[in-house]
Amino acid sequence: MSKERMLDIRRQNCNPMTLKVTYYKKPVFIHQGYMQWLWDVDGSRYLDLFAGVATVSVGHCHPKVLTAAEQQLKKLWHTTNIYIYPTLHEYCEKLASYLPDPLKVIYLTNSGSEANDLAMLMARLHTGNYDIITFRGSYHGGGPQTLGLTSNAAYKYPVASGLGCTNTMCPDVFRGPWGGSNCRDSPVQTIRDCSCAQGHCKANEHYIEQLRETLATSVPTRIAGFFAEPIQGVGGAVQYPKDFLKEAYRLVRERGGICIADEVQTGFGRTGSHFWGFQGHDIIPDMVTMAKGIGNGFPMGAVVTTPEIAASFARGVHFNTFGGNPVACAMASSVLDTIQEDKTQKVSLDVGTYLLKELAKLRDKYEIIGDVRGKGLMIGVEMVTDKTSRTPLPLGEMAEIFEDVKDMGVLIGKGGLYGQIFRIKPPMCITMEDADFFLAVFDKSLHNHMKKR
Ligand code: PMP
Repeated sequence: MSKERMLDIRRQNCNPMTLKVTYYKKPVFIHQGYMQWLWDVDGSRYLDLFAGVATVSVGHCHPKVLTAAEQQLKKLWHTTNIYIYPTLHEYCEKLASYLPDPLKVIYLTNSGSEANDLAMLMARLHTGNYDIITFRGSYHGGGPQTLGLTSNAAYKYPVASGLGCTNTMCPDVFRGPWGGSNCRDSPVQTIRDCSCAQGHCKANEHYIEQLRETLATSVPTRIAGFFAEPIQGVGGAVQYPKDFLKEAYRLVRERGGICIADEVQTGFGRTGSHFWGFQGHDIIPDMVTMAKGIGNGFPMGAVVTTPEIAASFARGVHFNTFGGNPVACAMASSVLDTIQEDKTQKVSLDVGTYLLKELAKLRDKYEIIGDVRGKGLMIGVEMVTDKTSRTPLPLGEMAEIFEDVKDMGVLIGKGGLYGQIFRIKPPMCITMEDADFFLAVFDKSLHNHMKKR
């Protein structure tokens, strides 16, 4: 029996049924990683353009981060934050210096779901209100509370589906108007190409109007919080019209709500032009949640908020055994230094801009690419049956292209409400040569696919 087959049997025996293996025709058995590269158990090398879902920020097993981890592992692994230890406080100080005033109080968690869960609790405690608003296409976590914030039905279970929720522990989530890659008038439109009744130029007003309507009809009184990703990640690199988030923040604050930027995917320079995604919208949130790129793959998350909101939260006792773990803090601190030293934000901007430009050429070449969008190294390629109907490409066809790209040595991601978006979110150490390699592979696989169609 092959090594892969044996591993697959072991996986099926003892791993949860909900675990989804991305390549089901021929799974990939990853064994090792270095910077933007991954190797499987047979020694085949892959260019990693998904970074463990936008998580490996500065590179797999980055030598500087590795050294920081090794040094900390020799000193102290764990105490919990009932003691004062320098690694934790030095890291928080450093992280705070990346955020504008008054966002200076930091709570460390172990994941993005935990961070959003905590942010939701803090928003409710601070405002005394209960209702939370999120957008269609959003992903904010997979726990019982955060599942209510996550919009994609694929991740949901009936007891935690937000609206219609029967479990009193679940949040009441009122879906905002934002349709992700979908406009109200058509299931597959993007804002850029919006041809809805109101027209592209009216898209912003159109969405704001929907938000007003939602606030007036679904949430008649005051609200606790509003979660939005500055660019939707799992939703498929969905961007908002200019000034939309700014106006949404104003409307939410008018109703007494706290505005939370979920930077789990967009943070740490991934969007290229800014360190945080919210900076691209000219807004300052009341809370920022983060995870993924913060630890370059080491489990970590954080909520950053204002002293005022933190004071409301301080009425109770909050405890998290592993949040702020010394090894996690040492690695995350090194990640911040590495982002500066390796100029990864600039890589994100330069390589990302190049990829967007070149992918747009492929969009013009192939009927089945409906849209290319995103910012920096947070890119979505929307696949459709044809440009006129813009019907999402069937999942079988998506899988074929996806597997073909992998067989030619490149790993990419998938997402979108209909599973129709290819997602490109590599470690931010990739080069222009890597980008060219991917573009050639993608072009070839699309060409192969069109021949078969
Ligand atoms: N927020 C966003 C924007 C995410 O993309 C994710 C994970 N995909 C989460 C929150 C949840 O993070 P985690 O999986 O670390 O709990």
